[in-house]
Amino acid sequence: MQRTRRLRRTPALRALAAETVIRKEGLVYPVFVRWGENVREEVPSMPGVYRYSVDRLAEVVDAVLAAGIGGVMLFGIPEHKDERGSGAYDENGIVPQAVRAIRAHCRARGREMVVIADICLCEYTSHGHCGVLEGGEVANDASLSLHAMSALAAVRAGADMVAPSSMMDGVVAAIRTALDDAGYPHVPIMAYSAKFASAFYGPFRDAADSAPQTGDRRGYQMDVRNGREALRELAIDEAEGADILMVKPALAYLDIVRAARERTLLPIAVYNVSGEYAMVKAAAAQGMIDERRIVEEILTAFFRAGADIVITYHALDWAKNGGNV
Ligand SMILES: [Zn+2]
Repeated sequence: MQRTRRLRRTPALRALAAETVIRKEGLVYPVFVRWGENVREEVPSMPGVYRYSVDRLAEVVDAVLAAGIGGVMLFGIPEHKDERGSGAYDENGIVPQAVRAIRAHCRARGREMVVIADICLCEYTSHGHCGVLEGGEVANDASLSLHAMSALAAVRAGADMVAPSSMMDGVVAAIRTALDDAGYPHVPIMAYSAKFASAFYGPFRDAADSAPQTGDRRGYQMDVRNGREALRELAIDEAEGADILMVKPALAYLDIVRAARERTLLPIAVYNVSGEYAMVKAAAAQGMIDERRIVEEILTAFFRAGADIVITYHALDWAKNGGNV
């Protein structure tokens, strides 16, 4: 008889035969940076996640260093918003300030982490869309140079990597060209390649204050129903020069991750988004689930599906509590 149970009998045998490990160096913690001083405020819909002012970032940077995870991804919440999202490409904007503060703090500690800047306009535009509006629509080509300027501002401040999240056509190529021309050919791009128009983003918009004032993002983010189109998006971004391809959200899209893994040689990232996090926290707070086991199972599933990098709000808690068990 085929006896697959032989290798499940003891913890040691199971550990020996395990196919998947959660690599904590492959985890990225998203950090919300907001204007103001001496601010650390919890995001109401995301228990355990905070918005920090630049002067309080050291706390989260130290936690990330102590946890030994790969790095952080920065999202900015500016004091002022305008039609063209100028805070996104201000060299003294909130994200460049945060990057410089994190770099300085890491230097003082003699430690390193990867600092990734999310690149989009939606946190900075008064209308909340990811590009500039023309005739009530998000204008793709007119937005590209603004995304490129935003990437340059982050990289000049010291970001290791930029991650364009707008789903504008051609944004990866525009950023690649801008970085190369400005003397940053070594800076990689993590492309939000297959970013779906998902209801799982709800709590993030609360955190980043970036909900569209009118309409929604279905005109540029992907239709939830389309898997083949996602692979096309990934292929286009790879051809435009992306170094890492991302699928977002994560849990309901692992079929895309697996299909991508079988087609590309590039590293694949998944973004375990705010709504996915909030559901786990809410169920755990009700005593309905064992949070730690659920988080471990979820993170394992991402790596098993083929992800190399996992962007997740669970990263700090998971790594802090001792990692893989
Ligand atoms: Zn956006």
